[in-house]
Amino acid sequence: MPESNATVSLSLAQDLLAGKRRALARAITLIESTRPDHRAVAEAMLAEVLPQTGRSMRLGISGVPGVGKSSFIEVLGGKLIEAGHKVAVLAIDPSSRRTGGSILGDKTRMEELARNPSAFIRPSPTGGSLGGVARRTREGMLACEAAGFDVVIVETVGVGQSETAVADMVDLFLLLLLPSGGDELQGIKKGVVEIADLLVVNKADGEMAEAAARAAAEYQSALRMLRPLSDAWQVPVLRCSALTGTGVAEVWQAVERYRDALGEPGLARRRADQARAWLWSEIDDTLLARFRRHPAVAEALPAAERAVMAGETTPGLAADRLLKTFGVEPKEPR
Ligand code: GDP
Repeated sequence: MPESNATVSLSLAQDLLAGKRRALARAITLIESTRPDHRAVAEAMLAEVLPQTGRSMRLGISGVPGVGKSSFIEVLGGKLIEAGHKVAVLAIDPSSRRTGGSILGDKTRMEELARNPSAFIRPSPTGGSLGGVARRTREGMLACEAAGFDVVIVETVGVGQSETAVADMVDLFLLLLLPSGGDELQGIKKGVVEIADLLVVNKADGEMAEAAARAAAEYQSALRMLRPLSDAWQVPVLRCSALTGTGVAEVWQAVERYRDALGEPGLARRRADQARAWLWSEIDDTLLARFRRHPAVAEALPAAERAVMAGETTPGLAADRLLKTFGVEPKEPR
């Protein structure tokens, strides 16, 4: 890295640790950049602040569009800030890649929180694979922690693979649900319920209060079948209303109970496992990207795919050939 870049990353790291918002915004812009010189600065900056990271509650929140994620985060964030916390909200929005538009990205969300000096809200980085977006969000989370945010919320729409990516980077994964009960359980992927550490039925107010109570009971019994019993943590099903604020404080109490149940060693283990998984996904992503970009591989790929699809070559043989083109000798016999 050129000397000037090293200077930039060092002074950025210092500003970040001093809690300067503009430094945080700039740090995240660099993290999200695809320019190699920006990446180099971002990586050096992250290495510099790494010892000052990790001191936050990392909370993942997911749920279908319209369930009330932004309303909930607005209320929860407000309460946390009142209690003296600094709250950062990062979003992962898989839709922004596919459609150019985005489910999460519109500017009207969380208006009040966005104006609060103790909050920092950043919409999802666009472009690239989910893996790339996840990596940038993880790094963004570290930058927020370095800047003194002690609650980092990672929000994602419950429409695809992104829930797993979020669950893999947070301490606690909260799934917001509609008060429509069993029907909805058919609709949402059971896998998402399985990875949630906390289920919360939102919109438990007015005419929907009763339906919410029924839904909560149904989820509770569904959980018994879906999740093996754990001594450390029984996944609770709570109810709240992001509209009236009822039950939101209780959700945070459950988050704190969860953290207590996990304990410091449990939390350290969860994060260590996540860091190792992150290492491997970095390696996987980088190798795959290099492979696809390799000129001779790129040239041979379409024909190889055609041959495999037509049944003229086995996938194994075609892969061996392509990998050899890339400079990797065929796999050893298993
Ligand atoms: P998101 O797409 O998950 O972020 O959902 P929003 O927070 O944008 O909420 C979607 C709609 O549901 C909005 O019209 C909200 O006003 C409404 N909403 C959110 N939370 C509640 C709630 O607790 N009760 C009721 N009745 N409406 C809510």
